[in-house]
Amino acid sequence: MNKIEHIGIAVKNLKESNDLFSKLFGKPHYKTEEVLSEGVNTSFFQVGENKIELLEATNANSPIAKFIEKKGEGIHHIAFDVLDIEEEIQRLKCEGFIVLNETPKKGADNKLVAFLHPKSTNGVLIELCQEIKE
Ligand code: ZN
Repeated sequence: MNKIEHIGIAVKNLKESNDLFSKLFGKPHYKTEEVLSEGVNTSFFQVGENKIELLEATNANSPIAKFIEKKGEGIHHIAFDVLDIEEEIQRLKCEGFIVLNETPKKGADNKLVAFLHPKSTNGVLIELCQEIKE
């Protein structure tokens, strides 16, 4: 596993939060993207070397809607950059982690992603992401 790729923050209203975080970081988000498979709208901020992803639910069944219902807005996941996501999934499975999707899926920002169940990681939802190479 390499560096932290981004930190995901669950928000109720993406537009309002874009304004808020623009003020916080002193610059606007550089992209927004809807991820249909997850039922989310996302926006990304570049803060120095780091990326912050804001996530808003697009429907009531979205994992983000459920998260906010249970815990309120806040840090939702930490994403780590990996070179070979398939290999990393196998390695982590063998180590006893619960992989939520063993087949990587298309995430935001040109990434293949997989999630580890927070039950197996001290309550932290971990996202693995691998850049999609053409
Ligand atoms: Zn993410």
